[in-house]
Amino acid sequence: MSASSTTAPGSGGDPRPGNRPYYIAQNCPTRGAALMLLDEFDGVEVVFHDEWVCPKHRDDGVLMDVPAG
Ligand SMILES: [Zn+2]
Repeated sequence: MSASSTTAPGSGGDPRPGNRPYYIAQNCPTRGAALMLLDEFDGVEVVFHDEWVCPKHRDDGVLMDVPAG
């Protein structure tokens, strides 16, 4: 992957700027807790940067940080 004209991250392999969600809200819509990367939460080695979870209530499921449409 080469640098493009924008800083918008692409697939889940691209780290998000500041390690925060890029396309979606950075906090849980329900409780306002800062979202965490699913893979950091689970402690796995290979991190996908488009899968976010709320650390306060993981059961809400995964929020995908992808462009609308
Ligand atoms: Zn939450």
